[in-house]
Amino acid sequence: MAKVCVLRLGHRVGRDQRTTTHVFLVARAFGADEGVLCGEEDSQVVEGMRRVCAKWGGKFSVSQEKNWKVFLKKRKAEGWVVAHLTMYGVDFEEGVKKLREGRKNVVVVVGAGKVPKEAYHLADMNLAVGNQPHSEVAALAVFLDRFFCGRQFRKKFEGKVKIIPSPCGKIVVCGKNN
Ligand code: SAM
Repeated sequence: MAKVCVLRLGHRVGRDQRTTTHVFLVARAFGADEGVLCGEEDSQVVEGMRRVCAKWGGKFSVSQEKNWKVFLKKRKAEGWVVAHLTMYGVDFEEGVKKLREGRKNVVVVVGAGKVPKEAYHLADMNLAVGNQPHSEVAALAVFLDRFFCGRQFRKKFEGKVKIIPSPCGKIVVCGKNN
């Protein structure tokens, strides 16, 4: 199975902390393997996500990268495909189909503030989840759901805790890794 890495571009401490955390929470829960934080250094977000992973399980990893251009060029040289989610791009459904068929590892780029022009040029695909402005969290969730065709929710997360699905109330038990 191809790997998926989600790169958060242009993160700003304070302003983007909650949204960036949500980007990574969605990345993890919707089947991605890795989250990469680019922009201002933020150990709070990185450590917070590591705590989530330790508690809830799975193999999702989070790291901070100083230079997003170097990172993307390196991944491309290793054979990864870069898909940038932007409202200015072309229809994502066609792009997702190509990515699935290509079976290569994918870096999905989502922006925070203004995305630099070089990101559009470095990307192999600039994909729009509709051509209206909305949210990086929504765009990523829809993209990953289409990419994994819904199968991401069957993925096993062996954590310290585990939810027993319940029609009413909350049932949380110790997981295998407790
Ligand atoms: N002003 C920014 C720019 O120059 O692109 C956009 C900021 S927007 C709040 C944050 C991110 O949400 C974007 O970088 C993009 O990744 C994502 N996004 C928002 N609307 C989108 C759409 N319709 N399709 C795909 N991604 C979208």
